[in-house]
Amino acid sequence: MDQNNLIVYLEFEDGRVADVSLELLTKGRVLASRLGVKLEAIVVGDNLDGVEEQVFPYGVDRLYKVSDKRLYPYTSNPHSAVLINLFREIKPQACLMGATCIGRDLGPRVSSCLHSGLTADCTSLEIGDHTDPKTGKEYKDLLLQIRPAFGGNIVATIVNPECRPQMATVREGVMKKEIFDPAHKGEIVELDAAKYVSDEDFVVEILDRHIEKSKINIKNSPIIVAGGYGVGSKENFQLLHELADTLGAEVGASRAAVDAGFTEHARQIGQTGVTVRPKLYIACGISGQIQHIAGMQDSSIIISINNDPAAPINTIADYVITGNLEEVVPKLIKYYKKN
Ligand code: FAD
Repeated sequence: MDQNNLIVYLEFEDGRVADVSLELLTKGRVLASRLGVKLEAIVVGDNLDGVEEQVFPYGVDRLYKVSDKRLYPYTSNPHSAVLINLFREIKPQACLMGATCIGRDLGPRVSSCLHSGLTADCTSLEIGDHTDPKTGKEYKDLLLQIRPAFGGNIVATIVNPECRPQMATVREGVMKKEIFDPAHKGEIVELDAAKYVSDEDFVVEILDRHIEKSKINIKNSPIIVAGGYGVGSKENFQLLHELADTLGAEVGASRAAVDAGFTEHARQIGQTGVTVRPKLYIACGISGQIQHIAGMQDSSIIISINNDPAAPINTIADYVITGNLEEVVPKLIKYYKKN
């Protein structure tokens, strides 16, 4: 097995590779070819049939499969052990994971054990050079790990010049998933789980699982009607629901609206909420602070309804309706119901 490639940790549940993993493979493909290395992926669990068909079209050159009944569902120690022991062997130069519950648990464990460091919650990844400002030493082709910092007031680019692997978790939805070549076939390497994880690693036994599926699906909705603090009340949010129902849309919200109790946290869009890229985003009573913009700026068309013509969101909006949303939204509902 050759070394120093770029590897993506795949999350696999109910026979499906998670969207965030496919997003990372899409980005990983680009980064790996910039580095001139292979794109690898690792999946750990049980019943891993069919993973290859799902990931090879994304350009995976090599898929490591580590299968054992006890490796599903995910628990911290065994999955960490597999990655730590495998990475000691294959020495990846970079490893990407989703900034999901699993990635946020697994990434730091692996990186601290390998003394490699990790940048959490990246919103972008690039390859670039870096000069150490203290020593003047130059580094070529590092993974530039980009994320908001200091409460979203700056965008930081973080590099890890010396330690390997360079590790990053990336938020769901911030990168596009795009098939590289439907006919692409990579190599499958079935690893013997017993070589990478020992009985002592299985310290947790899961007796039962209850999966709560949210009915709110703003991430995949093509139209979002989002409300901010300017909506004013929980009752007024019903207006937005009515407009959303008329358009076949989902309702989103700013953090200020969520904090005020106007709507549920699952609808929050932005740096500490969900990242969305719908075809149409209607922002109602949202000022457009950087932390909100971070989660919706890639929407194809943005309409802002705001009574302040100088609201910052208007600078990124394609269309601006200046007025009170209590007057504007009912008119839109009436119009779209007729048409
Ligand atoms: P406001 O800024 O209060 O804006 C309300 C807007 O409504 C104003 O533009 C006003 O002109 C307009 N308005 C008022 N009345 C009406 C009316 N009747 N009709 C029409 N317009 C009206 N925010 C997020 O959204 N998502 C995040 O994930 C997020 N994460 C954060 C993370 C950190 C670490 C921090 C520090 C902040 C975060 N925030 C986040 C908060 C963010 O900084 C803003 O406070 C928040 O986005 C403001 O929400 P808003 O635009 O709804 O409210």
